Amino acid sequence: MGLATALPAGGGRGPGALELGGLLEDLVRVHRPARPLGSVPASIPHLAGVDFSRFGIAVATVSGEVFSAGDAALPFSIQSISKVFSLALALGHDGGGGLWQRVLREPSGTAFNSLVQLEAEGGIPRNPFINAGALVVTDHLIEAFGDASGEVLRLLASPSGRCSVNEEAFASELARSERNFALAHFLADLGNLRNPADAVVRHYVRQCSVEMSCADVARAGLFLANDGVGPAGRVVSPSVAKRIGAVMLTCGMYDAAGEFAYRVGLPSKSGVGGGILAIVPGVCAICVWSPRLDAHGNSLAGTSALAELTDRTGWSIF
Ligand code: GLU
Repeated sequence: MGLATALPAGGGRGPGALELGGLLEDLVRVHRPARPLGSVPASIPHLAGVDFSRFGIAVATVSGEVFSAGDAALPFSIQSISKVFSLALALGHDGGGGLWQRVLREPSGTAFNSLVQLEAEGGIPRNPFINAGALVVTDHLIEAFGDASGEVLRLLASPSGRCSVNEEAFASELARSERNFALAHFLADLGNLRNPADAVVRHYVRQCSVEMSCADVARAGLFLANDGVGPAGRVVSPSVAKRIGAVMLTCGMYDAAGEFAYRVGLPSKSGVGGGILAIVPGVCAICVWSPRLDAHGNSLAGTSALAELTDRTGWSIF
């Protein structure tokens, strides 16, 4: 791929605008699933019915352009991608105000919804992207804002005006949230929850039930590639943006952060709805979505498409 000036790229590599449009179309052709390989999350009945062949990808650049291909305009369930935005809100509000005393910044090495680790480690979750850690972040946001999930939705919607809760998905997940309730009660028992477990889980599940398109998620995540400034203005300081990227790199891909860093090489966060938000610092935010998941809960086709994208563009932090 030749050099071009239309799009800034890490280390002077990367495609120009025209080439990027063609590249994304290529990725759709190659990676859109032809067969229903992989799994859907058992704990969220609503997601089981999503067409396995969906595949969308969008790139929002720091220069204000959005490139997209495939099903990039279709809303999907962002699930745990929302955890990046709740963390940004918590850290942006008052520098975190003690949050980092209540949750660590280490990869978990266990499933994202593990109870065992939380008990063994005295109620301090390993990181804000596993469920226990995200529940602590939500608890923090309830103290800071009251309407925690409403505030997360406002941040997600700020660049595009588009972001809504799928009420059916919310109800179906809440009805199957025994594990999240168990985690919240454990946190409360171990002194790391300040609001009622019921309220914390409701706000948490609500932010997970947000539906947005790849194009809108990429726009919403752009502040992470742009020193904390998104299309609608500053979200966090440059240093907080850098640190959220670090937590994404080490903890954003469930128990496959090492494998994903090896294959893709970008700070990323995935959700069990099959979406992945990836950040190319100084260049762009990428969102890819395809609903079928690998054994770790990451989108199968989304991961392979990002691996090819970063190979072909040179977009990697390594
Ligand atoms: N709402 C899901 C849960 O709490 C999110 C899981 C995910 O996307 O990692 O289980």
